[in-house]
Amino acid sequence: MRRNLRLMFLFVLVILMVSQTAYGTKSDITQKDIDDGISFCKEYPVFLQVDGAAVETDVPPVIIKERTLIPARAVFESMGATVNWDEDARIVEITMGTSNVLLTIDSSTAFVNGASVTMEVPAMIIDGRTLIPVRFVAESLSCGVDWDDLSRTVILTSPIIKELINIRSIEIRDSSDSYRVVIESDGVIEGYKPFAYDSPERFGIDIKSAVLEIEEEEMDADSEIMKAVRFSQFDTEIVRVVVDLKEKVAGKVSYSSDKKSIYVDFDKGQEEAYEDLGDTTADGLDVVDWRATGRLVVIDPGHGGKDTGSQAIRDGVEILNEKDINLDIALRLDRMLKAAGVNTYMLREADTSITLYDRPAMANAANGDLYIAVHNNSSPVNPNARGVEVYYNAKANECDYEIYSKRLAEAVYAEFRKAIDIPGRGAKSEPAYAVLNKTCMPAIIIEGAFLSNTEDLKLMMTDEFRENYALATARAIVQILNESVKEE
Ligand SMILES: [Zn+2]
Repeated sequence: MRRNLRLMFLFVLVILMVSQTAYGTKSDITQKDIDDGISFCKEYPVFLQVDGAAVETDVPPVIIKERTLIPARAVFESMGATVNWDEDARIVEITMGTSNVLLTIDSSTAFVNGASVTMEVPAMIIDGRTLIPVRFVAESLSCGVDWDDLSRTVILTSPIIKELINIRSIEIRDSSDSYRVVIESDGVIEGYKPFAYDSPERFGIDIKSAVLEIEEEEMDADSEIMKAVRFSQFDTEIVRVVVDLKEKVAGKVSYSSDKKSIYVDFDKGQEEAYEDLGDTTADGLDVVDWRATGRLVVIDPGHGGKDTGSQAIRDGVEILNEKDINLDIALRLDRMLKAAGVNTYMLREADTSITLYDRPAMANAANGDLYIAVHNNSSPVNPNARGVEVYYNAKANECDYEIYSKRLAEAVYAEFRKAIDIPGRGAKSEPAYAVLNKTCMPAIIIEGAFLSNTEDLKLMMTDEFRENYALATARAIVQILNESVKEE
């Protein structure tokens, strides 16, 4: 008898374990939580908006433990999703495009594209209708979801469907100063990435969200610079154009004014330009690896125009404006990088204003590969604060070339400490800065020294400090660019 009981116990345990894995973990939401939520939402109803239009559901939305639950079918079907309900298994399955969410009633385990995820509030049946946690499901399906507190409205937006453009023609135009490869599409080209390879020399670009509409795969392009131009549907949404070269010549990539065409220019008379650079520059910088010459370094001299940045004012006399020293250092950096074969783009080259949000927008529009904001610091409260710090923000979209903001920040910081005798305040993560979180590329802000500190200010007034600030930064950039093209 004892033995039978034991077996029975084991049997029950196994059933429990199996049901746990099959149906997930039972949530700890009580009937009281549900009743409280329903009565609260009777007094303060919750509204729904889908793609700008108000949507009414037969069962009203309910807030349970700060999570809003809504009837799934009407809402997600109106957004183009398929909603299936398996009565026996008590499973709701919502599919939209390539995303899929599987929820079991009263279980806090959900499956998103096959992977199990724990939710705080599960799907449940209220008044005979299945309600699902709206934020969890919407986010899992890549829909936009927002909450307007004033109108108590859940705002849902359908995922943005990328429109693919068609590449209709590729041709070569021979002008007096360059060979131009013109890649024309029927829509606005959203992005591209240039690249270059050695032996044999090739320069290419990948065009994103594009379909190749041309029959041929290659065209003869024989000239003193080029051999041929080849193109292919490299991936389902990427068209690759490769120019076979006779010499190491970096292509300069730009958009037409309507952004429907891309131009790749190879300057004439510069066939040996890269080779002519030698191994090191007059500043003692390593010349960048030719394969990294297609990458664009955006230099942002902080502040400008009406925005002076920090100011050093002593006894009522204006000694230094941050915008001026930033520009001076940035111009030196630009000169040094160009001499090392690096492709650069200065956001300003004079004392002009750029708004805070225009800075990342300009860098993104130029399709930059690295973003370097040149600044100097100030402390309104602590005149003893001094030294260098470098800020970065790790982003999801920054690893196209295995270059990471953190690595870039640490390299610049290390070179700066080596080059200039100044206290170090570290390379730090700061996700809140607009130029760090709105740029679509690895980005850093360098804060060289403090205008508010007497010793730092003395340094900043010297040519040596400014030159070394630029040189240390340039050295780190070349190092990072070269790392990015190293073979595994
Ligand atoms: Zn600043």
